[in-house]
Amino acid sequence: MPQPPRPRPTFPVTLSRPPAAAAPVGGRGRPAAAPPVSGPPSMASDAVRARMVQRLAAQGIADERVLRALAAVPRHAFVDGALAAQAYEDTSLPIGLAQTISKPSVVARMIELLLAAPALADQPQARLGRVLEIGTGCGYQAAVLAQVAREVYSIERLRGLHEKARTNLRPLRLPTVHLLLGDGMQGYAVGGPYAGIISAAGGAELPATWLDQLAVGGRIVAPVQSGNTGQALVIIDKTNRGIERRLLEAVNFVPLKSGIA
Ligand code: SAH
Repeated sequence: MPQPPRPRPTFPVTLSRPPAAAAPVGGRGRPAAAPPVSGPPSMASDAVRARMVQRLAAQGIADERVLRALAAVPRHAFVDGALAAQAYEDTSLPIGLAQTISKPSVVARMIELLLAAPALADQPQARLGRVLEIGTGCGYQAAVLAQVAREVYSIERLRGLHEKARTNLRPLRLPTVHLLLGDGMQGYAVGGPYAGIISAAGGAELPATWLDQLAVGGRIVAPVQSGNTGQALVIIDKTNRGIERRLLEAVNFVPLKSGIA
């Protein structure tokens, strides 16, 4: 169905501050002191979340920055009340419009890979610079990314989810998260170049714009179609020597689609 004209610009729609001036890819020497997410205190969910983080560590997530970030973000606040009891299980859950919030283990794995970008390779405590997320969905991963990166630009193509993420994120007051309604296949040049680009939706190939908008020393982590069988995670590093691409384990993400709806 054709969309009626909208009164306000669809792209970019920022949650908070305008894009910052150019910042370095890595945060040299700066510790990644994740600011605690502010929200209503909940001892019960804190304990359940702490156990989720322990399980992730036992499964092999070793980067303290990632574990702290997952411990800081209330995943139950990003899903419908009826699903909140399952929020700390390692499962994807429906978020409406036929989309899903990714499993915590997949979020952790992808962010751990992102933090191992060439520019941060020898800085186990550093924060990433600017990050672009494709597929905001309910906003959960954007909130996790905000714990490990200086600025997060997150694009969603479905207006309903863009609005839902805005509502979900508002109480967390994360001024470094910028929500955009648009087609993530075009990236978001204004916020770049990015230290990291992470996609929560997978297509046949990675859009060339993402590589263009990646800083030297930066890394893309995304699902991509692999043969006829399904998707695999791919990491792409932009280095002084050129582009390096590695295919990793099989994954199962929603499809990357073009246009906004
Ligand atoms: N990171 C999300 C996961 C959402 S699922 C979370 O934490 O909830 C992936 C999302 O990618 C879906 O909401 C889907 O609408 C979106 N998507 C798919 N193709 C897209 C595109 N080209 N641009 C922006 N978003 C896209």
